[in-house]
Amino acid sequence: MISIKSENTDYLIYIGYNLTEIKQKYAVKSTSSFVSILNDNKQISFFEFENKVSRNLIIRTDLINEKIKQLPKDQNMQIMLVFDTYQEIRNALPVVYNFPIYSKKTSGPQRKVYLDFVCKEKVDYQELNVLLNGILKTQLLVDMPPNELNTNRFVQEAKDLVAKLNNEHVSIKVIEGEELKSKFGGIYNVGKAAVEPPRLVVLSYLPPSEKTICLVGKGIVYDSGGLSIKATLFMCGMKHDMGGAASVLASFESIVTQKVQKKVYALLCLAENAVSSKSLRNDDIITMYSGKTVEVNNTDAEGRLVLSDGVAYCSQNLKPDLIVDIATLTGAQLITTGLKHAAILTPSEKTEQFVIKCGKDSGDLVYPILYAPEILLDNFKSKVADLKNSVKDRMNAQCSCAGIFIEQHLGDYKGEWCHVDIAGKCKLIVGPASHEDRGTGYGASLLYEIVKQY
Ligand SMILES: [Zn+2]
Repeated sequence: MISIKSENTDYLIYIGYNLTEIKQKYAVKSTSSFVSILNDNKQISFFEFENKVSRNLIIRTDLINEKIKQLPKDQNMQIMLVFDTYQEIRNALPVVYNFPIYSKKTSGPQRKVYLDFVCKEKVDYQELNVLLNGILKTQLLVDMPPNELNTNRFVQEAKDLVAKLNNEHVSIKVIEGEELKSKFGGIYNVGKAAVEPPRLVVLSYLPPSEKTICLVGKGIVYDSGGLSIKATLFMCGMKHDMGGAASVLASFESIVTQKVQKKVYALLCLAENAVSSKSLRNDDIITMYSGKTVEVNNTDAEGRLVLSDGVAYCSQNLKPDLIVDIATLTGAQLITTGLKHAAILTPSEKTEQFVIKCGKDSGDLVYPILYAPEILLDNFKSKVADLKNSVKDRMNAQCSCAGIFIEQHLGDYKGEWCHVDIAGKCKLIVGPASHEDRGTGYGASLLYEIVKQY
């Protein structure tokens, strides 16, 4: 368990790229990157890393993560992050994912970890606490197995949050059953084969404000691939396929708790992509919320189907200035922007720069990908419907294509839109949303920052 607090523990570690002053305080002369001393029977370590970064990183959090993994697993400890700026602290905060909450182990060490900061700038502890909770909550939901976190439980999590927030501007609407079936062809068809039914959850936070932002999360609580079933190796870890919806729910909590003065709708597109005699088939043609028809050629490309209904609902009903959808959408994201940066796709250069800035400020980094629908749309051509759901050519900017499919459902929407791909997860590959079989808590801080700065 990790919390933001200064507490006296047997073990203390300072982490930063410039520990000169701290080391002087303890009369440590060594300049090696990792030094430990005994001070009044207390072990104190100093991890000073070389923060050589290019323009797309702020802090080498990868080095911090590596070091944290080597620390004793059974000891209570105090971690002090030492940085010059609040932005650097924010960038280092996601390393708390190394102390996950979820476990079903019946034995093993229990430890308490306290986190505190040494910073030349003013540190907003209230905000950091809220962000810490957002990261840990996202990670907890991602780590929960699908036999616990099914669609019913996810809806309950959202309802419980609304009750907990107890805010006059907050409400919740759950679209399900006949209404979902008759209008939301994407969400309904993807989830119809599962025991627990699909839902669209719409959380609203509507304080007085001129600006309205919609956050739309992919919430596939389990992705077997459907009839285009995944091989075992690729199916393990697919509980993580709701990482987008988890970050939307967690950021909603952060936004309301911090009383950010923007109108916010948080949409959770919840479904289990299961196999049964009722499954969506390849060759089926479905009608989406946008009115567009889709010939299914890969039931494992289901994320774009549920998200498209989500963004179409926003554009038609909620009058947003900005729609952000976030999803563990494609394995191709990893090839495109790597393990640490989520891929962002948007028609607007201004929106692109804005989201990059929010990524840098929050520590949930992003990098833009090719936006060229005039060329890429050809990938989804169908002889019998408006679109197919999976690309013709996997070697043609696949990550961009998935986002461009979603854009087709925005209709005549004139506001801004940004698609965030936080990647898929399987035994072989990991992305921003998960690492070494654990959620990273990616997304909650990014979405909070986008809403705060918009
Ligand atoms: Zn899939």
